[in-house]
Amino acid sequence: MHRICVFCGSSEGADPRYRAGAEGLGRLLAARGIEVVYGGGSVGLMGVMADAALAAGGRVTGVIPRTLWEREVGHRGLSDLRTVESMHERKALMAELADAFIALPGGAGTLEEFAEVWTWAQLGLHPKPCGLLDIGGYYDPLIAFLDRMVEQRFLRAEHRAMVLADTDPERLLARFAAYVPPAVPKWLDRKQT
Ligand code: AMP
Repeated sequence: MHRICVFCGSSEGADPRYRAGAEGLGRLLAARGIEVVYGGGSVGLMGVMADAALAAGGRVTGVIPRTLWEREVGHRGLSDLRTVESMHERKALMAELADAFIALPGGAGTLEEFAEVWTWAQLGLHPKPCGLLDIGGYYDPLIAFLDRMVEQRFLRAEHRAMVLADTDPERLLARFAAYVPPAVPKWLDRKQT
């Protein structure tokens, strides 16, 4: 695993454990020699995670839409910065560059980005693992909701199982390493998607 895309809030959140968890993940990825790919901003948990990875000697690539450069205070100290024209391009490039995806705590943007890569994985468009780093129990209600989707038959159990959630980043990386994507459904014509 060479590069991991980390989706994270543009705010730091209410609980200091979120900041500590973002720092810990940045440091861990740097220590493992795994390059970080993220949204390229210096605000919120985005900046915290990127700074921690850089300070630990890691490589960090940011992907930021031109229009968000000021609002998300584009990070000027990254190893590589890709400026793109739209949110769609941002997500497509982050997804292409990365071998796996982790969502740290965040808001609607983080949820949207994570949901997209997970649903692409469900469709067999990529075989890359998707994980939630459940710091301070932040994602517990979402995890419960995923189980409700299965229970109410809106989500297949094997697709639910594709969301790897863990409170510990090292354990999450170990689960990524052991991850085997489910077989691509026969009905899927990749050329059409
Ligand atoms: P948030 O979790 O709302 O603080 O946002 C986290 C990151 O997601 C920020 O960098 C937002 O710019 C980004 N974001 C929000 N919506 C989208 C979207 N539709 N496509 C790509 N990035 C987004």
